[in-house]
Amino acid sequence: MHELSLMETIRDLALNQAQSHGAARIEAVRLRIGSLAGVEPEALNFAFEVLMANTIGAGARLEIETLPAEWFCAPCARPFRAEDYLGLCPSCGAISRELRQGRELQLTSLELS
Ligand SMILES: [Zn+2]
Repeated sequence: MHELSLMETIRDLALNQAQSHGAARIEAVRLRIGSLAGVEPEALNFAFEVLMANTIGAGARLEIETLPAEWFCAPCARPFRAEDYLGLCPSCGAISRELRQGRELQLTSLELS
């Protein structure tokens, strides 16, 4: 399950941030995830709970913001949305090679106390 190793990185980032701010607890962790990042929110939630146990982030909320996939079609010179890995332009049928948004996996903010 690669969500586990991804979440391990997120946890380490969160704990480092919390420590450098002298926080006693992590109340919430916010992530931004592209719809084509290839992760299951459910698996992330599970990994989060497991990995946060016995840390100052135990019991913290995990808030996930999902970004829709956005491609750019060069022939049409405009962006379009498609939730698959092919990136077929709905206007001209060209295959886009440019995924502008949708693969993100970022820690966006923390709520500390
Ligand atoms: Zn097009």
